[in-house]
Amino acid sequence: MTDERDTPAAPEGTATEGTATEGTATEGTATEGTATEGTAPDGTALDGTATFEGLGLRPELLKALTALGYEEPTPIQQEAVPPLAEGRDLLGQAATGTGKTAAFSLPVLQRMAAHRTERPPVALVLVPTRELAVQVSEALHRYGRDLGARVLPVYGGAPIVRQLRSLESGVDVVVATPGRALDLLNRGALQLGDVATVVLDEADEMLDMGFAEDLEAILDATPEQRQTVLFSATMPRRLDALARRHLRDPVRITIARETARPGETPRIRQTAYVVPRGAKPAALGRILDVEAPTAAIVFCRTREEVDSLTETLNGRGYRAEALHGGMSQEQRDRVMGRLRGGTADLLVATDVAARGLDIEQLTHVVNYDVPSAPEAYVHRIGRVGRAGREGVAITLAEPREHRMLKTIEKVAGASISVQTVPTVADLRARRLDLTRGALRESLLGDDLDRFRVVVETLADEFDLMEVALAAVKLAHEAAGPVDDDEEIPQVSFRPERDGGRGPAGRGTGRRDERPGRPAGRSAGGPATRLFVGVGRDAGIRPGDLVGAITGETGLTGRDVGSIEIHQRFALVEVPESAADEVVQALRATMIKGRKAQVRRDRA
Ligand code: AMP
Repeated sequence: MTDERDTPAAPEGTATEGTATEGTATEGTATEGTATEGTAPDGTALDGTATFEGLGLRPELLKALTALGYEEPTPIQQEAVPPLAEGRDLLGQAATGTGKTAAFSLPVLQRMAAHRTERPPVALVLVPTRELAVQVSEALHRYGRDLGARVLPVYGGAPIVRQLRSLESGVDVVVATPGRALDLLNRGALQLGDVATVVLDEADEMLDMGFAEDLEAILDATPEQRQTVLFSATMPRRLDALARRHLRDPVRITIARETARPGETPRIRQTAYVVPRGAKPAALGRILDVEAPTAAIVFCRTREEVDSLTETLNGRGYRAEALHGGMSQEQRDRVMGRLRGGTADLLVATDVAARGLDIEQLTHVVNYDVPSAPEAYVHRIGRVGRAGREGVAITLAEPREHRMLKTIEKVAGASISVQTVPTVADLRARRLDLTRGALRESLLGDDLDRFRVVVETLADEFDLMEVALAAVKLAHEAAGPVDDDEEIPQVSFRPERDGGRGPAGRGTGRRDERPGRPAGRSAGGPATRLFVGVGRDAGIRPGDLVGAITGETGLTGRDVGSIEIHQRFALVEVPESAADEVVQALRATMIKGRKAQVRRDRA
């Protein structure tokens, strides 16, 4: 199941939970001036890297970040947080995966704590889709918990009555899709007179979806002296015009700076696998089984991820060790000793903890997530492929992280091939290969004579081939680690947007609320999952389904949501409003030369 589809319901009670607690939340948190261990008084770490303390954030926020296991700000956070906390406008070019949500959320919360008003909300975040509204409001809620931040996501397709009630009870930050925001504004339920900050997140998507006029109307309803923050993965000309009209002397930040020169990346085999978030631990285990690294570092974003992944990998028979900033120097030295001495073969680490490590026998670097900046990618994978040895870099990417991976390829001058996660059949074939190799070695080298008597006695009773087969089976089972026959869903990257030139780009309607028009999942409309009765057995790939759907209906590639290919069937997400049309069309056509059963998925 992919994370986009598995969007949790809007966090109930986020609007009412925790009333304003100005000045009461500092107890038990770090106070100003208590630089943490390894931190210079100016807030930078002793090795010169940036820290969250150094960004001037309030103790309540620092506490939340520590609890989440964030060890250091990502590049976009380092650059964006200080000016935003000062109240500057900002124009940022950054894709998903860079940490941009925290980059604007932390300053919004910081300013909210400093200027609580009589008539909230103090901030409005506009996002293109319902999924993003929920995701961003959850992030704000997590970071702002100790500040008592009241955050409410509002989007089309959900009952408006509850949203009206929540707004009435007082909300500090509203995260909204433009259509619903305008609706609430027109009803007088959303008061924007005291809004100090407006954030436009994924602004290019909002323009592509025809929200330009809505955005203008909403911005016009906010105070002129407000702070305006605009994040976008691309900067088409229309967006530049909007920025020029609404932003005042903005700080400009581009995450894809050309700091890593093309060609700097060492010669390393670089592969990315597209994996839904929930399937990542299993996928990584499988990839490692097939790759069989001598020694590998697996990079994670947070301490929690490091700990839980280490546990999973150990459960799979690896000798994995965790390394993160929450460990003492002595613990870290012990871990490094085990890796260098060969009693551990996997190191699961955060960037901070792994900084400066040079491990001679390292063959593989794994990015458990797409790194937050191209520079981090180059830095991480530079740990292998030294001195002419072969190096392998593996990246697990979620379907929505396509753009960040592309940016990395461009900026780092890297060539990353996208592959599907090894199937159960691949894994079995690989294991048999290993067993065959071990047997061949034994046949060539070992003194086998002492086993002759066993074979000779069994040969009286069984055929020699059968004896050999039983022996191979025993050897194979003795070497094999865990049984793994769980299929991992095959997903592809989200279809690329068309940069505003497609039909969606010309529309001006509110795609999250307009019934009777195919509102793609990327457009925030409700999506429906269809069951299609052909799968991997029939050689079906995601492209076959997208091709069949776009060929037989009026939908475009970007209307098709996540796709899972299983052994005998596939699940595909399409806009609810077009579901019946798609079912009829697919029933009437052939997919890869086969007729398939097609229906709404009952799950
Ligand atoms: P975003 O680009 O905002 O979608 O964030 C991508 C992911 O990175 C989210 O899962 C965040 O929770 C995570 N994240 C953001 N900032 C940090 C950080 N400084 N350290 C570790 N993880 C982070």
